[in-house]
Amino acid sequence: MQRQLITGAKRVVLKIGSSLVASRNLGLRHDFIAQLSRAIAELKSQQREIVMVSSGAIVAGIEKLGLKTYPQSIPLKQAAAAAGQSYLIHAYEKCFQDMGQKVAQVLLTHQDLSDRKRFLNARHTLTTLIELGVIPIINENDTVSVEEIRFGDNDTLAGQVAHLVDADLFVILSDVNGLYTEDPRQNPQAELLSVVEEITPQIEHAAGKSRGQESRGGMITKIQAAKHVGQFGVSTLIMNGEPAQCLAQAFAGENQGTLFLPQGRRLPSRKHWIAFTLRTKGQLILDDGAVEALRHRGKSLLASGILDIRGVFSSGDSVSCLDTNGKEFAKGLVNVSSDSLARIKGLKTKDVQQILGGKEYEEVIHRDNLALL
Ligand code: GLU
Repeated sequence: MQRQLITGAKRVVLKIGSSLVASRNLGLRHDFIAQLSRAIAELKSQQREIVMVSSGAIVAGIEKLGLKTYPQSIPLKQAAAAAGQSYLIHAYEKCFQDMGQKVAQVLLTHQDLSDRKRFLNARHTLTTLIELGVIPIINENDTVSVEEIRFGDNDTLAGQVAHLVDADLFVILSDVNGLYTEDPRQNPQAELLSVVEEITPQIEHAAGKSRGQESRGGMITKIQAAKHVGQFGVSTLIMNGEPAQCLAQAFAGENQGTLFLPQGRRLPSRKHWIAFTLRTKGQLILDDGAVEALRHRGKSLLASGILDIRGVFSSGDSVSCLDTNGKEFAKGLVNVSSDSLARIKGLKTKDVQQILGGKEYEEVIHRDNLALL
């Protein structure tokens, strides 16, 4: 029954890890890319729509440029990514062409998705490519990505893409078999979990902090991406991408990898964007009355319920809402800057208007701009 979430999925975002497409000693793994293209073409022939997010540009660039070691400086990493990206896409292009399949390269930064207009624009482009039967192959635009505007790892980017294109299923192909009860490299007795119904703190703990040198993420970034897409009603399958035929087996309903079930409540797209695409710039600590009004009574946030403010933010930024125990329960777009908010926190609306001259909004966060987590 649960595997039907895979067999029945029409629109699928497929994330492919660096270590699958390239190895540091041997460069691009052309045989694997050929196998993968064949497996994906087969999924396409089953009327599925595929959007790929592929890592591997930097490692491919190391081979192309003949670098001796993994680049440490940012300019060298970015140069390797630029050189490697064309190499990587050329390899995909060639293999998919043999399969009679067209591909398109799309490079994104976090900034492209955190601006709502650009987010919608990217969505239109991707859906148009899908309608044309083309497979978009996405990567982070590493060449121009500096800290403030980057996703940082492709698990996060791919999760955001799953939301962007409204996918039915998110598949992460990696060099591990899925999520284990413990780190299998440390405990060989660890068991592979076939299904995860809810991502609890224990599950996050089991994911540990593993991180390879080639890939920027580890199991934890995968789990977080699964958690975020789960709130949008999308299930995630984390499985070994090798051999590539396993993909066909997974879509035929065989038990592969770990399947993360979607959460019951599906956040509307714009609220999901507020909660998980935007980066929060600050925190508001709210009193019990405000927490109750926001969580259970569908209210907007007023200044009177705010006990404390952390961080520096401007009007329009995304902030977290915390209860008095420090637990984050909502995120929203704030109408008032942190400076102004410091002057009006805890005050009644009529006093707020006197202080701020009635120029600001009545609500600190309007209900329409608030996402409960
Ligand atoms: N964008 C990077 C690359 O293509 C990889 C990031 C990641 O592995 O998460 O080399």
